[in-house]
Amino acid sequence: MPTTKAYAAFDAKSPLAPFELSRRDPKPNDVTIDITYCGICHSDLHQARNEWQNASYPMVPGHEIVGRVIAVGSAVTKLEVGQIAGVGCMVDSCRRCSACERGLEQYCEEGMSLTYNGFERDKKTPTHGGYSKQIVVDERYVVAVRQSGSLEGVAPLLCAGITTYSPLRHWKVGKGTRVGVVGLGGLGHVAVKLAAAMGAEVTLFSSSDRKRDDAKRLGAHEYVVSTDAAQMAKHHGRLDFILNTVSAEHDLTGLLLALRLDGTMVMVGAPEKPLALPVFPLLMNRRAVAGSGIGGIAETQEMLDFCAKHQITADVEVIPIQKVNEAYERLVKADVRYRFVIDNATLEA
Ligand code: NAP
Ligand code: ZN
Ligand code: ZN
Repeated sequence: MPTTKAYAAFDAKSPLAPFELSRRDPKPNDVTIDITYCGICHSDLHQARNEWQNASYPMVPGHEIVGRVIAVGSAVTKLEVGQIAGVGCMVDSCRRCSACERGLEQYCEEGMSLTYNGFERDKKTPTHGGYSKQIVVDERYVVAVRQSGSLEGVAPLLCAGITTYSPLRHWKVGKGTRVGVVGLGGLGHVAVKLAAAMGAEVTLFSSSDRKRDDAKRLGAHEYVVSTDAAQMAKHHGRLDFILNTVSAEHDLTGLLLALRLDGTMVMVGAPEKPLALPVFPLLMNRRAVAGSGIGGIAETQEMLDFCAKHQITADVEVIPIQKVNEAYERLVKADVRYRFVIDNATLEA
């Protein structure tokens, strides 16, 4: 079994530390990728610290992976050696249930194989993610990266991109749709760019005034400080759709009131604790709350191609792997502009 350098969480409390990882021997359908960059998603932190109570250790996080294909199995048809490829949040699924057949592998009835903190289809071999130098993945769960230019801004699209693109498409956001985005972090800033590129009018809700200029630069038309009742009141009943990307506990009342008749708020943020659901704002104006999880493989490819066409990448701060724990501390404080991305070459330093 080939080995690769990695960083792992060994328990919920200790900092991540170096780890040597065994990858499986490549099978005929497998692609071996030399990882160039891996984004740091807030989900990495939630899981490394066992905030979702599902952690298994050692855990090598990372599901925003881009790199170069260095080997392909004899049955691989989709990718070639030398090509740039991406891997997102899942590396397998049952492939035959109705969700898988519809290209919605993330909702596989037998459960998808998460890229890390999950299991291969045998339900016992643990999976490990992109805070590592190499990964071996079945080609069916690998996407082709056709963006020209630098790759570091592409890596976050593999999770932040698809997680926001999929609900924007499912709820038919388009020209003139009044969209709210809550939280200007990794997911939020990509959501603003995507919604603006789809022709929507974007209102950004942030917990402070600090990101106002950035939000406008990224494509938001309005900026609202969500803790300021007077500012919130001006937006009552205005929006068709809200994408909520907040990673922590927060009050939903004012946000729901910002929806118009039949408007929907989709939760993609996954806070550690359940949120209180204010019912009266739902009854008034027949508003809805829904959820959405990442996106299927075909849609991930569609999203990457959309981003290539519209020249959308994430705004990133590239860090060496040795600074990953510092990055986690800053992520907790919402101090990231707007995605940390690991330069995986530093794993060999
Ligand atoms: P992030 O970069 O840390 O951004 C989260 C943003 O939420 C922050 O930048 C901040 O924006 C806002 N926020 C944080 N704490 C807050 C608080 N106490 N009150 C109000 N707002 C607060 O995280 P991310 O990587 O974008 O991920 C966001 C969430 O989505 C995480 O929970 C993650 O696990 C989840 N996620 C879900 C899926 C899915 O499939 N559904 C996929 C990926 C990630 P402001 O400074 O603008 O307020
Ligand atoms: Zn993620
Ligand atoms: Zn399935």
